Amino acid sequence: MTQRALIVGLGIGGMSAAIALTRQGWTPVIIERAPERRKGGYFIGLRDEGKNAAAALAVLDGMEKRTPDHIQFWDVRKNGTRKRIADLTQETNAPIVVLRGDIEEALWHGIKDKVEVRFGTTPVAIVNGATQAQVTLRDKSGQEITETYDLVIGADGVRSTVRKLVFGPDEAFFHSVGTMLCAFPLARPVAGFKPGDGLMVADVKRTLTVFPLEGRPSTALFSYRTKNPEKASKKDPLSTLRPIFADLDVGGIISKALEDLSATNDFLFDSVQMVKMPRWSKGRVLLLGDSAWCLTLYSGMGASAGMIGGQVLGEALAACPHDIRAALDMFEARMRPFVRKHQRFIALRSQLFVPSNRVSLWGRRVLWQILLRSRRYLFRKSV
Ligand SMILES: Cc1cc2nc3c(=O)[nH]c(=O)nc-3n(C[C@H](O)[C@H](O)[C@H](O)COP(=O)(O)OP(=O)(O)OC[C@H]3O[C@@H](n4cnc5c(N)ncnc54)[C@H](O)[C@@H]3O)c2cc1C
Repeated sequence: MTQRALIVGLGIGGMSAAIALTRQGWTPVIIERAPERRKGGYFIGLRDEGKNAAAALAVLDGMEKRTPDHIQFWDVRKNGTRKRIADLTQETNAPIVVLRGDIEEALWHGIKDKVEVRFGTTPVAIVNGATQAQVTLRDKSGQEITETYDLVIGADGVRSTVRKLVFGPDEAFFHSVGTMLCAFPLARPVAGFKPGDGLMVADVKRTLTVFPLEGRPSTALFSYRTKNPEKASKKDPLSTLRPIFADLDVGGIISKALEDLSATNDFLFDSVQMVKMPRWSKGRVLLLGDSAWCLTLYSGMGASAGMIGGQVLGEALAACPHDIRAALDMFEARMRPFVRKHQRFIALRSQLFVPSNRVSLWGRRVLWQILLRSRRYLFRKSV
């Protein structure tokens, strides 16, 4: 008899796990809280680690790529001047630019017609046994049903319900970076800039970054520092952002972006939290993706980590087909060093996006300039 897994969450982590489990002869069922598959989302840079994992899951070739041909990034100053800075998307090994929805679309093609997906469904109780887990599911009509699975995978994002039900409250695992983010697609190009131009309007404790995409509207990312991000995340984004950015409205860039925010439902407004857990599995329940280790947007590795997690889980189950406990231990041992490495410098990396003081604001301007010049030099040497 094939082994059954319940995957909670139809995001990058959940679908990657589903592809890997199917390959190992498992029968996964995915439940998703939303009434339908989400599309769109924000700018994502996939570096080598993510590209390799996508290739291993056989979804890289089918993924829409949106890297502009000619990217230029600009540091836009409060006084209206602008200075060219290093391309923020080329920070390390050359990433490809995609939307979160492009990765999810490619993964969806990997599971479509192979995996049962139930929309509008959430877990409300989990009884975690030694060899199986019983999960009570509630669907959109409010009906509840209890089912038994050999493995339950919580891939339900940073505010995971599975984590709350089995491991403990958010506060036990959240490590706040002290920042808020609001990401959404701009409805129109930024006046005075060319297609392929990205820009940053930065000041102490607040930044607007615009990331360019080929053939799609750019992604706007407002970030700011606050003492109580959890409280801020419950507020209305527009009325929160307006006063914070009011005096930074260089050339109307801020006010036009906020107008675009008011006209879209495709936005994410949340506090930035790292998730740190001593162990990602308990009995027959495993966490994978942002629910387990949220690396935050500052790592530039969250989407990659979700796909790597799926791939590593598949390899661990292949190595230990008759011993799920041993497979989960192997998953833990393989993923820990990667996650530790990318969580280590999050606070420092957040300074590149949202400087916390004048020294940091100045330091990152100098750093972007050095990076720009060194790349020009390296490029000249390589041609
Ligand atoms: C602005 C921004 C920029 C980023 N840039 C990058 C980047 O450049 N590179 C990179 O690698 N990463 C980046 N990331 C990180 C990356 O987007 C995430 O790490 C990744 O999408 C997480 O995937 P996930 O599947 O773990 O979780 P999620 O994407 O949160 O998916 C969770 C899914 O579970 C569902 N769900 C939630 N609760 C329940 C429930 N109770 N029952 C059923 N379903 C539920 C949700 O509806 C959702 O579909 C960025 C993130 C942000 C916010």
